[in-house]
Amino acid sequence: MADPLGSAATLPGTTTAGSGGSRPASGDRSDGLRVVVVGGGITGLLTAIRCVLAGHRVVLLERGPVPHPGATSFDQHRALRALVVGDRAATRRAAELHRRWRELDALLCDHLPGAGLYRRVGVLQALPPGLVPAAVATAAAAGVPLRIVHPSAYPLIGFPRGSGAVLEPHAGTLLADRVLHAAARWLRHHPDAELRPGREAVAVDADRARVRLADGTAETGDVVLVAAGPWTGALLDRPVELHRQTMVYLRPPAALAHAWAATPTAGGLGADGRAWLLPSVAGTLLKVSTDAVRREVTTLSGPDDDAGWAARVLAAGVVSDVDGYDVVRVKHCHYATAESGDTGFVRVGPAAWARPASGPDGFRTAPLAAEAVVAELATQSSFL
Ligand SMILES: Cc1cc2nc3c(=O)[nH]c(=O)nc-3n(C[C@H](O)[C@H](O)[C@H](O)COP(=O)(O)OP(=O)(O)OC[C@H]3O[C@@H](n4cnc5c(N)ncnc54)[C@H](O)[C@@H]3O)c2cc1C
Repeated sequence: MADPLGSAATLPGTTTAGSGGSRPASGDRSDGLRVVVVGGGITGLLTAIRCVLAGHRVVLLERGPVPHPGATSFDQHRALRALVVGDRAATRRAAELHRRWRELDALLCDHLPGAGLYRRVGVLQALPPGLVPAAVATAAAAGVPLRIVHPSAYPLIGFPRGSGAVLEPHAGTLLADRVLHAAARWLRHHPDAELRPGREAVAVDADRARVRLADGTAETGDVVLVAAGPWTGALLDRPVELHRQTMVYLRPPAALAHAWAATPTAGGLGADGRAWLLPSVAGTLLKVSTDAVRREVTTLSGPDDDAGWAARVLAAGVVSDVDGYDVVRVKHCHYATAESGDTGFVRVGPAAWARPASGPDGFRTAPLAAEAVVAELATQSSFL
């Protein structure tokens, strides 16, 4: 099959920095590196795929099953939108993600035609009316289709009083946990990839591309790529800010099920304009949250303070007549940010890169992070 992700990076040759470990580093092939990936969330899985497409061999270590329901990425859905009002460059960059995800959809669903991991239901953005012209100008400059719409066309959704709204029709929803399953399946069937569930990394030697595991063994490659989500900072002792957010999953009343399945992903909602929702597309539940319940925390495993977070989400006014909906589940989820604002892979040693702070948009941007680090492997390979 041709590389559907575009021009895959190729490596000029093999150089070896690793030694020891349970398998020899390099040696058995001359045209690729042995890459050890830590973490099987969206970053680890897409990076592993990208490595394999570039001609490397990959061992992916995941402390749980692959995919792991405890991963940040493991959720019904994640939003994919391009518009960043007032920032043409960012909008243009993000618009590229639509193409990347359509290509990934084709790659991962090759044997399951029509599975549709990327549902382009559109993304609705509520805005103060004064900002609508700026939104239209940004979209036009970045070549992103955008329509001005009226909130009254979406009676199920709660908008801030007097709000305007724009619709990005080509954006939508990624069916996140299905993406993870499809990516894991793709890798499982590839001879150059090896998934190792139940392997927890406890230390990374970034000089020697060596990962020490909780079971006392070690894994060595030519390169280590750490994609352990918000746990990366603790594993590598790098400073990150940790954010915890509460999401509420709702089952709409039966009479509204069809209407919700055709409703776009939406943000800028609720009385204060900080709430957002992902609609119940493709058999998922309706998911709502608000930035007002995002809090900075110091640990990922500490007890929640139970400050009525779910009640605050429900009171945000994101859905009209919310009392008629069943609350099916409440989930607290984390992401990490860095002071530098960097959301991609950063080099953490001569033979190791990590993505410690994938941020609040880290799912949709994972294809670009993966592509960038694999391209960097090609340019850096002579130093490894
Ligand atoms: C409430 C909320 C809403 C969000 N909404 C969006 C959105 O709409 N759009 C968007 O693009 N992004 C969104 N994000 C951000 C996005 O979900 C994350 O940035 C992204 O999923 C991170 O993926 P990851 O693979 O880097 O980390 P993870 O998905 O957390 O994967 C890390 C993996 O590493 C494993 N692991 C951890 N430590 C070890 C270890 N020591 N050894 C071995 N394995 C280990 C974990 O078990 C896990 O499977 C949201 C985040 C939150 C919290």
